[in-house]
Amino acid sequence: MRDGSYRGRIAPSPTGLLHLGHAATFWIAFERARTHHGHLVLRNDDLDRSRCRPEFVEAMLEDLGWFGLQWTEGPDYGGPCPPYHQSERRESHLEGWSRLREGGFIYPCRCSRREVSQAASAPHWGDEEPIYPGFCRPPESHASSREDRAGVSWRFRVPDGEEIAFNDQGQGRQAFVAGRDFGDFIVWRKDDMPAYQLATVLDDAGMGITEVVRGADLLVSTARQIVLYRALGLSLPAFYHCPLLLDQHGNRLAKRHESMSLRALRQQGLSPQDLRARIDQTRKSFPLAR
Ligand code: GLU
Repeated sequence: MRDGSYRGRIAPSPTGLLHLGHAATFWIAFERARTHHGHLVLRNDDLDRSRCRPEFVEAMLEDLGWFGLQWTEGPDYGGPCPPYHQSERRESHLEGWSRLREGGFIYPCRCSRREVSQAASAPHWGDEEPIYPGFCRPPESHASSREDRAGVSWRFRVPDGEEIAFNDQGQGRQAFVAGRDFGDFIVWRKDDMPAYQLATVLDDAGMGITEVVRGADLLVSTARQIVLYRALGLSLPAFYHCPLLLDQHGNRLAKRHESMSLRALRQQGLSPQDLRARIDQTRKSFPLAR
């Protein structure tokens, strides 16, 4: 397969050390870009000021390089624009927020996280956020708000009852119903920062990404992001969701599993080749989680 116009990306958040699960997903992203003779962009998703730390950015660059991952654009590789640190993309984030507000797609919300989870009727699983019970959702006829951006969160009004379907390149057809599988979600946070969903859509589109490769834990988020792409009039990339690696208890690997960090495994004397073999092995011996 040859397609020089392919643009993939890896987008780690420097909130901790990268672990074997990240390496597994990023390796697939790398291989897909390589197979297509395309580009792989590294974006540093450093929006969360309270959790991101410069030492994790440094560690991430070093660990990815050690693992054998090569990217063709982004930090440590150079190239002029676009900015590869998410925190440098605020102007485009603000512009996206304005467009959503002008279009009447979003509304201000004053509910706390606690109020939302206490009021949610349907049980929610894992780290999926509960369906928003709609306390601050204005009637459709008052959809457009003139309120100031800061000091409140902003939610996207999802098209209730509509099925959002996409053909995942890794997992086949996926479909989620708005209002049932995911509710009105936050696009702008009370602390005046863009939320993950909005920042990701604007950045992926702004960087010309043609295929988003990421973990299967983000499948429902992809449905959220599709409604955002539509509202913003942006063209959709393809999506490839990778199965997640589980530990021996069947739990998803997370940054708190320090013994599974690339750094710890390297210190134990394992080579990148050993880790790649271990990733293949783990995928074979444990059931795959979504
Ligand atoms: N920075 C996000 C994360 O680490 C990226 C997720 C995505 O690939 O969209 O979870």
